[in-house]
Amino acid sequence: MDEKQRVWNSVLGEIELNISKPQFNTWIKNTYPISMDETEIVICVSSAFTRNWLENKFNLTILNSIQKITGSVKKVRYVVQNTQKTNSKSIKSVINLKDQELQSQKEALSAKSISHGGFNSESGNNFVQTQRQNGTSLLKENYTFENFIVGSSNELAHAAAQSVANEPGTRYNPLFIYGGVGLGKTHLIQAIANKLAKNNKNILYVTSDIFISDLMNSLKNGKMEDFKARHRAVDLLIIDDIQFIGGKEATQYEVFNTFNELYAHNKQIVFTSDRPPSAIKTLNDRLKSRFEGGMIVDVAIPEFETRVAILKSKCMQKNFELTDDIIYVIAQRIKSNVRELEGALNKIIARVQLLNTKITPELVDKLIEGGQIHSQRIVSTDTILNIVAEHFHIKKEDLLSKSRKKDIAVPRQIAMYLIREELKLTFPNIGEALGGKDHSTVMHSWNKIKKDLASNYTLEQDIAMIKNKLYNEENPENS
Ligand code: ADP
Ligand code: MG
Repeated sequence: MDEKQRVWNSVLGEIELNISKPQFNTWIKNTYPISMDETEIVICVSSAFTRNWLENKFNLTILNSIQKITGSVKKVRYVVQNTQKTNSKSIKSVINLKDQELQSQKEALSAKSISHGGFNSESGNNFVQTQRQNGTSLLKENYTFENFIVGSSNELAHAAAQSVANEPGTRYNPLFIYGGVGLGKTHLIQAIANKLAKNNKNILYVTSDIFISDLMNSLKNGKMEDFKARHRAVDLLIIDDIQFIGGKEATQYEVFNTFNELYAHNKQIVFTSDRPPSAIKTLNDRLKSRFEGGMIVDVAIPEFETRVAILKSKCMQKNFELTDDIIYVIAQRIKSNVRELEGALNKIIARVQLLNTKITPELVDKLIEGGQIHSQRIVSTDTILNIVAEHFHIKKEDLLSKSRKKDIAVPRQIAMYLIREELKLTFPNIGEALGGKDHSTVMHSWNKIKKDLASNYTLEQDIAMIKNKLYNEENPENS
């Protein structure tokens, strides 16, 4: 091994200690030294982004470890060499391209405009219905880059997302963002979509369960051509929470095909997941390697300063003022998840407005401590099933059974509804968790409870009590 490689290896060793493995693999692994003289070492990196990142974040680390080995080198220079090009060529040659077919599909579609949801009112499939039932567009207007607070926990993901929004389909394709619940993944990818929507790009944003149920319906109704056309005539395809396709062969097959078509045409693809591709069980290898072939970044739990900044920004958006010491208390107490942070803030604001009380840091502290404005504990499917069963004085096994007796069927529907609402599991996954029920049964139950809630006071009370039991027990996250 030559001297420059030895020097650079020791730098890599130090950086590796400071960042996660996927990050290291995405950003750093493919860097190498080109030359080194008395005073300067020149490093080849794969993107301007990596260069900036090394310069801004690791400059000291890099120089320190270089100087441990060679006292004389005082400067590191980075040159960018794009390795992405060769990548895309090799993929293009592997997949069987049907350019003309795709072109004619595009032409057929170009007359109809693709909306945010990526579908039009004529197709009349279940996908559209899911949308209408929810009554909202899947894209939230306020999920923008402007409203996203950047800290060290998310700066890479943020930079990558911005870069994708600025130059879709070029460098970071696919973009794969992963991390725990409530850490801003959906916000970031919708920021990309919102930005590109302004530039008149065709965008399709789906969650993986919408993708799955749309696919199942299209297969059932002989509408696959329609499905394919809709998913392939876009400039940007986003699939949120892709982890749920694990174990679903037909879905993975279609994601793979869609991916290849879009990728070959330099269309941007973005995924989020609660874990990196390598940790998604029963994800087939070829899809895994597609996911890993682009940019993988994670979002982590924000540190105190970022939590404070997020709270301040949310206050501003709501036009509500809270003193710094109150904000500090919230940020100190609620650590693990931005959604909870926001939830706590909302409850405090509501309380102030409702009761017209003077709110003090001590009061906020007490409220959070006492569990009235608490960080939600993370519940599992099992917890929900147990608590629902306990609430209705039935056995958990009854919920998993096929019994149609009303005093079992209704609690079962409530359990399905709660798992969906609280854990955001996909309909097929909920079906599995309830002893192998069909996804359409789950969807139906969820819809029914959602609808009944508006008019059925007893049901509302039951659900409120169950939620109370779910979240108001001693919360380990808070200690
Ligand atoms: P995830 O998809 O990772 O579960 P979301 O994107 O749904 O999380 O984020 C949960 C909530 O927290 C959203 O309301 C989002 O706007 C907010 N949020 C998360 N991270 C940030 C951030 N860095 N700045 C501002 N708001 C954030
Ligand atoms: Mg999300």
